[in-house]
Amino acid sequence: MACGRSAACPEGAVKVVERAGPKPRPFTINHVQTDPPKAIIQAENLTKVYRSGRIEVPAVRGVSFSVQRGEFIAIVGPSGSGKSTLFYLLGGLTHATSGRVVIDGIDFGSLNDAERTRLRKQRIGFVFQRFNLLPTLTAMGNIEIAHAISGNNQPLDHKYLDHLCELLSIQGRLDHRPSELSGGEQQRVAIARALITRPAIILADEPTGNLDTKNSDAVLSMLQRSNKELGQTVLMITHNLEAAAIADRILQVRDGQIVSDTINSQPVPVIASV
Ligand code: ADP
Repeated sequence: MACGRSAACPEGAVKVVERAGPKPRPFTINHVQTDPPKAIIQAENLTKVYRSGRIEVPAVRGVSFSVQRGEFIAIVGPSGSGKSTLFYLLGGLTHATSGRVVIDGIDFGSLNDAERTRLRKQRIGFVFQRFNLLPTLTAMGNIEIAHAISGNNQPLDHKYLDHLCELLSIQGRLDHRPSELSGGEQQRVAIARALITRPAIILADEPTGNLDTKNSDAVLSMLQRSNKELGQTVLMITHNLEAAAIADRILQVRDGQIVSDTINSQPVPVIASV
């Protein structure tokens, strides 16, 4: 079986379990349909340099790794080490200075803006530290709009929505606007919004950064379920080592580079009670 690491990886040293995940949807560019490759995310010699006048800040410096379908990866590192920049690069939310990001065999750099947006909407569910819910819509409106703009022409699966809301304990909060919800409730709505489109990949940037322990557990538990039960590939940025302990694999970032890539043979199961 393919090794999940891009760097030196002795044959047989790492076992990545392939799970039955969401069926990869074909993505067409210029009417050419691509076959889904094994690695769902590939970062190749990725570099990002911020420029402000004459000052250059190299935030990500030559990062390469690949993520297999169904893996749960935590990216950890101190503040300023480049984690968020890496998140934006992997999600196609910012352009790399050099190198490339390949999602399901498609190089973000080869796409125009509309195609990048389409690829993101079809393949990736985002969860942010600050929730990023639309303030004028209710919780339900935020979830519905994610489905509406996903490009999925199927009607909203209300049974699945009910199931998500039950798991996240937000059934009674769906008519409220974000300003009427606690931080924990907002993040649980944001998770439902990310999952409703059944994306193959969940990218979460410090999803528990603004939450108390109880809500953190609810969010981590849901990410773990989405990975183990729905087979979604999860990549979570965190500076919290306890949160990272639930992942199958932990990448450590320092000064814009990956300094270790470790398989966590015993991911901690999260029990949530909200
Ligand atoms: P982390 O998420 O690990 O805290 P970041 O990716 O936010 O790290 O930042 C990495 C480095 O890039 C830091 O030195 C930060 O100050 C710098 N940086 C981040 N965003 C910008 C920006 N928009 N312009 C200039 N420098 C930035």
